Amino acid sequence: MRRLSKSAYGEVYHQGSNQGFVVTPQGVLAVDTPERPIQAVKWREKIIDGFGPIRHLVNPHHHGDHIAGNFYFPGVEVIGHELLLPLYDVTVNAWYSPARLERMKQIDPDSVWLVNHPASPPNPPTRLYRDRLDLVLGDVRIEILHFPGHTPEETHVYLPDERVMFTGDNIFYQSKIYLQDCDPWQQIESIRRMESYDVEVFVPGHGEYFFDKRYLQEEITIIESWISFVEGLVKQGLSLEEALKDPVPADVDPYAPGQGRVDASPRINDINVRNLYRRVKERESAVGV
Ligand SMILES: [Zn+2]
Repeated sequence: MRRLSKSAYGEVYHQGSNQGFVVTPQGVLAVDTPERPIQAVKWREKIIDGFGPIRHLVNPHHHGDHIAGNFYFPGVEVIGHELLLPLYDVTVNAWYSPARLERMKQIDPDSVWLVNHPASPPNPPTRLYRDRLDLVLGDVRIEILHFPGHTPEETHVYLPDERVMFTGDNIFYQSKIYLQDCDPWQQIESIRRMESYDVEVFVPGHGEYFFDKRYLQEEITIIESWISFVEGLVKQGLSLEEALKDPVPADVDPYAPGQGRVDASPRINDINVRNLYRRVKERESAVGV
């Protein structure tokens, strides 16, 4: 864990994804949670012990690695974009499905006893926003902002006075990018919009903190090369099944998956191509190519 500014802290070495929190005179606002229940409860205890009660938790989007930890913050108000709520139940039910619990016995046995535990009920977002939500907690201003891209409901948390931005999964810093649900052109637009914010420290959804805005352009370039690769497959007239067999050239995305996602590359390639193939096709028929 690292202190990033007067009030903000981040953690980028848990399994799967990143978290952070903001300490205010009116309690702690948490940003995201660890995906593994045992790490989520330890993270919660560490925050409460060192910084006081947690009052709010912001969910950046609906993917399981970002909302499965809600269960372990009982009684904490969860904040999210209004498009997240309809996806909450189906996502957490899949995340904690019987098949996945069987797998957890192998890959994460310390967490098994915490799943379906009465002390940890589901905790869907109850405070929903559409465009933005501005909080003033004591002397700390917190902007909860809609940056659609990685998902339609993607949410950033920005501290204008401390120049810290939590970017959700619009950014995978030096870590292989997941594009399984994105509108890639909208994601590029959102990353361009980030360039206009005064930021000293970015906390991406995955990968390490970064301090240099030039990475925003690098991320755009990676998304653009994914789009060009899949456009090439579509232009050759390949079906989706044929396109999925085409190996993804190593230079499309130069980074390996981060944070314990070892051996995830083939699966990420598969889900990225599936989504982008559909998006490219839809765009073609919309513009009548
Ligand atoms: Zn995600």
